[in-house]
Amino acid sequence: LAIPDFQRFKQGVKEIFEQVREKELGGSVAKYIPQLASVDPNLFAVSFCSIDGQRFNLGDADVDFSIQSCSKPITYSIALEEQGAAKVHSHVGKEPSGQSFNHMSLLVKRKLPHNPMINAGAIMTSSLIQVGMPLYKRFGKVTEIWSELFGGKKVGFNNSVYLSEKDTADRNYALAYMMKEAGAFPENTNLYESLEFYFQCCSLEASTDKMAILAATYANGGICPITNTHVFDPSTVRNCISLMASCGMYDYSGEWNFQVGLPAKSGVGGAIWVVVPNVGGFCCYSPPVDELGNSTKGLEFFKMLSERYAFHMMEPQ
Ligand code: GLN
Repeated sequence: LAIPDFQRFKQGVKEIFEQVREKELGGSVAKYIPQLASVDPNLFAVSFCSIDGQRFNLGDADVDFSIQSCSKPITYSIALEEQGAAKVHSHVGKEPSGQSFNHMSLLVKRKLPHNPMINAGAIMTSSLIQVGMPLYKRFGKVTEIWSELFGGKKVGFNNSVYLSEKDTADRNYALAYMMKEAGAFPENTNLYESLEFYFQCCSLEASTDKMAILAATYANGGICPITNTHVFDPSTVRNCISLMASCGMYDYSGEWNFQVGLPAKSGVGGAIWVVVPNVGGFCCYSPPVDELGNSTKGLEFFKMLSERYAFHMMEPQ
């Protein structure tokens, strides 16, 4: 078993969860997408799933939330499976940007978006999925894969978040045009469809319960521990969690890697999902985020988790 004494582990994590719940950590619910502003800031949940399918849930673990940027690694993984790493990385880099998630900048030498974990890079990877297919097929394909990552559970879609996202997307349009001007997109890319598709992926919804199963699928080399379905190749998982480790927490990625030392991805909805390779996956949800866009309770939870358990990737064994 990945976690020999599961009850004891659950108890230990619950203690951390309860301590973090009591802390005043500041942050506020993201407001730049109007529909996100109406979320209850007191929601708080943590879920865990091991690579052998042992699970527990704490707090509001069945509440669906807006996945937002937590979708970026999945979009990147699907692009890798369809196009291969060489092609994908002829359009997007592997470097942390050292800037906020929607900053207008490209790699200095190659004029490509820095990495697939920030907006520009995710708009790019969105243009590399089901190329040439109508949007309904592209979206259908993606939701099918999400469902496999959730062990057969369905992924939700929030239409008013999507409309709200689309209404306030000047920056994302600007990012797309900046990349178009630099000649970064594959030939024949339909810019508007790539953006539409990106907005749709940001507007997916799920609970921490489901997201922990997804994280555990990555921890398990791409095989869902609940259903044994092969979702992604091991090389896709390795590439994806490498970039999550270096770029998954926006401009906090270096600090996160130092303190927590695990591949992770956050979203402005307030979720963070974390892969403990060969052990399992976590998801924490608490809507107030800091100025970088990371959930304040989420950061604290995972810092305390890494202090208590020897999960840090660089931990001497
Ligand atoms: N939908 C958001 C945007 O495109 C996603 C950003 C995020 O979660 N950091 O701006």
